[in-house]
Amino acid sequence: MLAKGQTVIQLMEKFAPKSLAVENDKIGLQLGTLNKEITKVLVALDVTPEVVDEAIALGANLIVAHHAIIFRPLANLRTDTPMGALYEKLIKHDIAVYISHTNLDVAEGGMNDWMADLVGIQQPKPLEELQSERLLKLVVYVPKSHHQNVLDAILASGAGVIGDYSHCSFNTEGLGTFLPGEGTQPHIGSPGKLERAEEVRIETVLPESLKGKVVQAMIKAHPYEEVAYDLYALEQKGKSYGLGRVGKLAQPKTLAELTQIVKKGFDVPAARVVGDGDRLIKKAAVLGGSGSRYIHHALRQGADVLITGDVDYHTAHDALMAGLAIIDPGHNSEKIMKREVAKLLGQMLADSGSETTVHASEPNTEPFRFV
Ligand SMILES: [Zn+2]
Repeated sequence: MLAKGQTVIQLMEKFAPKSLAVENDKIGLQLGTLNKEITKVLVALDVTPEVVDEAIALGANLIVAHHAIIFRPLANLRTDTPMGALYEKLIKHDIAVYISHTNLDVAEGGMNDWMADLVGIQQPKPLEELQSERLLKLVVYVPKSHHQNVLDAILASGAGVIGDYSHCSFNTEGLGTFLPGEGTQPHIGSPGKLERAEEVRIETVLPESLKGKVVQAMIKAHPYEEVAYDLYALEQKGKSYGLGRVGKLAQPKTLAELTQIVKKGFDVPAARVVGDGDRLIKKAAVLGGSGSRYIHHALRQGADVLITGDVDYHTAHDALMAGLAIIDPGHNSEKIMKREVAKLLGQMLADSGSETTVHASEPNTEPFRFV
């Protein structure tokens, strides 16, 4: 069975939720409809005429791309302009275009983590933190007989994770009192009679994003008609999300050695380098796309090198003066997302029993030639 467009995107957003994108980024469905069965998905960095022809030849009716095809509100949709003709071709061939941009960069195990991994960065942290998960404390009172059931349900739905530890909870026994009102059907006792019951107070933590799921599971497993529980916001923050990654290299490398690793890993014919090739690099920062803006973030975090694309002349001078090396493999280095997203999404679709297949786009969309 083929997957519906909405299903494909739900899987994609499970991995790279829209909420992770930076403000005003152009993401999501940009052209066509998801309200159809998807034959094949083509994963591309840029949607160029070659990529559209590839999708047509392949029989793909959904392109998942990193770079948007519509940046600003259209004043017209003339099909005698290059972009207009591209939109026309996509629509005529019923090919939808979905964009996953900064949400894919920020995602845990996404673009910037793939880059950090290729470079050999250990335990990468965001270069610029954008948001961190809000944590909640959940407290619920359960009769002793149902303590284990309710605790299991809460923990199975994702609550109780602190760092690398899961199933964290605290449980104290106590005496609960309640007086069932008229017309109630209490699990213990009877309407109009004050009841005392031995109960357990379960305490645990959860990220706010799991609130609905955890509370629903808790209520389902709880025997009481009215469940007494408290949810409150915590001061400490959960997991942090952000752009770029920074961390120590598994083994220090010279700038020249690291440049070769970058060229090979990102499959680029050349890289522009700022700094002495013999310099020893212990800590590295990476940022997919255009990272000129991030030299100060890299310096603040103690990085010896920033690996990013689209570095301009004056930024390179600033970095040189500040003692930060740069390796610029070009913006096209982000093409690594094609095989990674194809692999991930393909696996998720296969696991869901769908026959929709996912393909990494092949044309090289690097606009520059190196001569
Ligand atoms: Zn980019």
